[in-house]
Amino acid sequence: MNFTSRLASRLLSILTLVFFLVLSACSSSEKDKQQSETIIPASESLPVITVPVFNEDTAYAFVKAQCDFGPRVPGTTAHKNCADYLVDILKRYTPSVMVQEGKVSTYDGVNLDLKNIIAAFNPESKNRILLFAHWDTRPWADHGSERKSEPNLGADDGASGVAVLLEIARQFSLQSPSVGVDIIFFDVEDWGKSGGGAESEDSYCLGTQYWTKNLHVPGYLANYGILLDMVGGRNSKFRLEGNSKQFAPHILDKVWKTGVNLGYSSYFLFQDGGWITDDHVYVNRINIPSIDIIGSDAGSVTGFPAHWHTHEDNMDVIDKGTLKAVGQTVLHVVYSEQGI
Ligand SMILES: [Zn+2]
Repeated sequence: MNFTSRLASRLLSILTLVFFLVLSACSSSEKDKQQSETIIPASESLPVITVPVFNEDTAYAFVKAQCDFGPRVPGTTAHKNCADYLVDILKRYTPSVMVQEGKVSTYDGVNLDLKNIIAAFNPESKNRILLFAHWDTRPWADHGSERKSEPNLGADDGASGVAVLLEIARQFSLQSPSVGVDIIFFDVEDWGKSGGGAESEDSYCLGTQYWTKNLHVPGYLANYGILLDMVGGRNSKFRLEGNSKQFAPHILDKVWKTGVNLGYSSYFLFQDGGWITDDHVYVNRINIPSIDIIGSDAGSVTGFPAHWHTHEDNMDVIDKGTLKAVGQTVLHVVYSEQGI
């Protein structure tokens, strides 16, 4: 992903629209001991929902398993082996798994075979949510200070989002949500031109751009989408990204308020996060309002955490608490949705 040249300037006041209806009755420590959690609705007319407890240990293991293949740079053996691994894991949790294959050309003239990995839960449902992440890793460490031409491991930038969604998929297999959910791991997100500006924007997210032009289900639609990108870093902060605010303010509000209500206010900040060109931009263009939960650092030059696109993006920066905060929040959002 890449910051765009535009700066977010909208006021936070537009994000006070949606009344949050569910309240957690438990403390975080209590929740950790439970298999699932009952949410008492504020209105008696709403059904009581039970939300599974996200297992951060499992999610952490999924991050490590991906990193153990090495950098998942498109065209490499590690990339191919990791694709096979991800498909195998998803098939444990749903029979509806497919791999969309296609050909794309990068901004620097490399032709690649891509694999978008897609899993459906309750595939017959018309009432759907799309959860997505990118599973490839960047071929370089160009924002680091050493070995810039070598690929970085992408523990946070790549593996973390996929890992959280794999754990969510595991939870879906244990307790089916009321709505349909599609999980897509997009390929070739991070082989983009560094430096920002309009000329670099469409050089990222090639797997998502391919999918939006070649939908795996003709006419595919979801009610909304949530992108997870860099969701495992220690002390991560998630801010209100500009495209998310513009195209899906109601979803952004719902997710952030859910996180805060669950006790994760140190992660989900109601602060402007700048404009980021990421996979959700292209999903928004096909009229699926989508947000980006993405680690940020307001104090850094890039706006991203210090390990972004460096060799420091390895298992040392991954924190189970961050994986838990994001995973539990997304699970609550999904299980709060009612009806097929
Ligand atoms: Zn990246």
